[in-house]
Amino acid sequence: MTVKPNFFDSFKCIASECNDTCCAGWEIYVDADTADYYAELDGDDGEYVRGNLSVGEDGMLLCREGARCPFLREDNLCELIIKLGEDSLCDICREHPRFYVTDENLCEVGVGLCCPEAARLWLDTPLGFLFEDDGYVLTDTEKRKLERQMFIIDRLMSGDGTLGERLSELLGGDTSDSELYNRLRALYSSLEVLDKNFPSRFSVNPVSVSDVRLKNLAAYFVFRYYFELGEELCLKFTAVSLIMIASMDGELTLSAKDYSKEIEYDTDNVERICDFLESCDSIGVLVKKLLQ
Ligand code: SF4
Repeated sequence: MTVKPNFFDSFKCIASECNDTCCAGWEIYVDADTADYYAELDGDDGEYVRGNLSVGEDGMLLCREGARCPFLREDNLCELIIKLGEDSLCDICREHPRFYVTDENLCEVGVGLCCPEAARLWLDTPLGFLFEDDGYVLTDTEKRKLERQMFIIDRLMSGDGTLGERLSELLGGDTSDSELYNRLRALYSSLEVLDKNFPSRFSVNPVSVSDVRLKNLAAYFVFRYYFELGEELCLKFTAVSLIMIASMDGELTLSAKDYSKEIEYDTDNVERICDFLESCDSIGVLVKKLLQ
């Protein structure tokens, strides 16, 4: 079975209209099949493509960390697509920002928040999920896990109380820690970042926020991480992500996009946060206080 958000099929890169670009800053390697295709390209096209690629430790390098992709034009259009068509892209460029979370017979697909257009769709769409038969039949255990994930998403999206109360109830625990936000801010300030100004974007004091779009954001994190992290850690990561996004300066959708780019798309950062969260049992109290 494949599960996807209701807007998934209508996602389209907005290219030169994008106020960011996913084609700069990150180290991007070309997959082996595409590297072979580039190596065998004839004539001027071949020389042009190979002349813009370099060799890195792990193979053919498209983009170096901190740099712009050599095929990215000033107007943020891709010269490779213009010259050779979309089929010439390597896997990562063709798929980004789509993600796939698989669990035996289940595949959950979505678009990552690091893309401004994806973030807009997650936050502004009346959200629902589509369940498609892809020929793989779920076991009873998989069905139960999927039902539980969807129950949590439904509970966060609607029901009695504030979002913070609903999330706190799912998290459980009533331990209070007046220093938790400061400890989170210190942790986030010590992570690897692409933008050196990112750590200074968290407010000194925790921010109490009421914004209906936060429930969609909560749904995103539960959809994205439930099978990867397991229920308890997924809920904790969801809660701290909402707390930290709400405490960032700037408009919510842009903050969510920047948070995703800096935190989610660096597996070391996610691991360090999860290590911290494993032994943290005071998130429920803080999230209840902050998310109205
Ligand atoms: S960040 Fe999203 S909208 Fe912007 S260029 Fe990349 S895929 Fe397209």
